[in-house]
Amino acid sequence: MTAPRIALSGVLRTWDAAERTGVNGAYVRSVLGAGGVPIILPPLLDAALVERALDGIDGVVLTGGEDIHPGLYGAEPSPHLYPPSRERDLFELGLFAAARERALPILGICRGIQLVNVGLGGTLFQDLPSERPSSVAHDPGGARQARTHEVRLEPGSRAAEALGRTRVAVNSFHHQAIDRLGTGLVATGWTEDELIEAAESEDRSTWLLAVQWHPEEMHADMAAPERGLFRALVEAASGRAAASGASARRALGESGPTSTRSETGVGR
Ligand code: MN
Repeated sequence: MTAPRIALSGVLRTWDAAERTGVNGAYVRSVLGAGGVPIILPPLLDAALVERALDGIDGVVLTGGEDIHPGLYGAEPSPHLYPPSRERDLFELGLFAAARERALPILGICRGIQLVNVGLGGTLFQDLPSERPSSVAHDPGGARQARTHEVRLEPGSRAAEALGRTRVAVNSFHHQAIDRLGTGLVATGWTEDELIEAAESEDRSTWLLAVQWHPEEMHADMAAPERGLFRALVEAASGRAAASGASARRALGESGPTSTRSETGVGR
């Protein structure tokens, strides 16, 4: 199998008095654990450079982080909104659009499911406790690996297939979530308060899957069902990696002066 190159959307943070860019190691470890080659893309890339950065990339993970600016889905900011990053919003919306254009497999995680939804014209709850009070705690605090609520998955969905089950106890640390679904997305996972925790493309020929929890945090647990999400992404991306390798070989085969097109695409 050709190890596919998986782009991870990066963050910009200041620590030890320096501005730095990267992603949580858990995303990198999860992609490595599934057999992919993680490539971190910094959020300083503007739309034109994002397009170029995707050359040679076989799949994309949209990672967790800041609240998305509500202006991007036509809403006024709630007083409970956490500070958004315009830079990162535009970078990731550009990345998502460019990845869709190239039909790359895309896995959205936490902010990633929200980004996918906004990118497809959907809306978000800006702050669950104030807008959608519920008995399910979606941000209970504690360890990042702590499984604190259950998610029910649609049988036969991409999410259920990747996780290998239709119920999964998950970690949860988010105060935002999908409200109205974007075009072409279907909900395939819910908490018992019917909040959307998984969504995917209605069109199964596109590999787009997103979850509201943090599967990457389970990377050290070899038996965690969440590993299946990364395996499924890498598997979908490897199909592309193999296909692009084959087309590159075909292109080489056809480039010789005496070559002619044949049915297999290999020059004589
Ligand atoms: Mn949750």
